[in-house]
Amino acid sequence: MLTMLIISLVACTPKTQDVAKVDIAAVVDLPTSLDKVVKTDEEWRNQLTEQEYYVIRDKGTERPNTGALLKNDKAGVYTCKACALPLFSSATKYDSGTGWPSYYEPINKEYIEEDTDYNLGYARTEVLCARCDGHLGHVFKDGPKPTGLRYCINSVSLAFEQADQAEDQP
Ligand SMILES: [Zn+2]
Repeated sequence: MLTMLIISLVACTPKTQDVAKVDIAAVVDLPTSLDKVVKTDEEWRNQLTEQEYYVIRDKGTERPNTGALLKNDKAGVYTCKACALPLFSSATKYDSGTGWPSYYEPINKEYIEEDTDYNLGYARTEVLCARCDGHLGHVFKDGPKPTGLRYCINSVSLAFEQADQAEDQP
């Protein structure tokens, strides 16, 4: 018998799954528009806690090493606490050693607005949510590759949506 039995083996290479990678659209709804979320001061005060209001609307800064999301290393998406706009992927979060959650890149540059502030007597680049103008933190140019940027963000300005850990779920 010269029949050659060809056994096609399904390539069974071990999945080198990058645990850091996050399918953003599977975790949160991406916005179809960036129309401004505009609320009165009173509405913001009712929606936000005192500390959230202090940071997000009054451009305050939380004390370092106090943020609930500082040491969060779960896979998922960080959204704006005030308007839920998806801002950062856990894939770009890193430990900067500063005491604030740090990311090297936003999900979409259009979701972040920049402004210059001189509150400490020198120019810093403030970053704000592009949809609700909520204060997030600052961006510095001493971040890691590939961007070299460090988005230094207040934990209270963020909410976290964890990626679904279960696979093959509809
Ligand atoms: Zn927002």
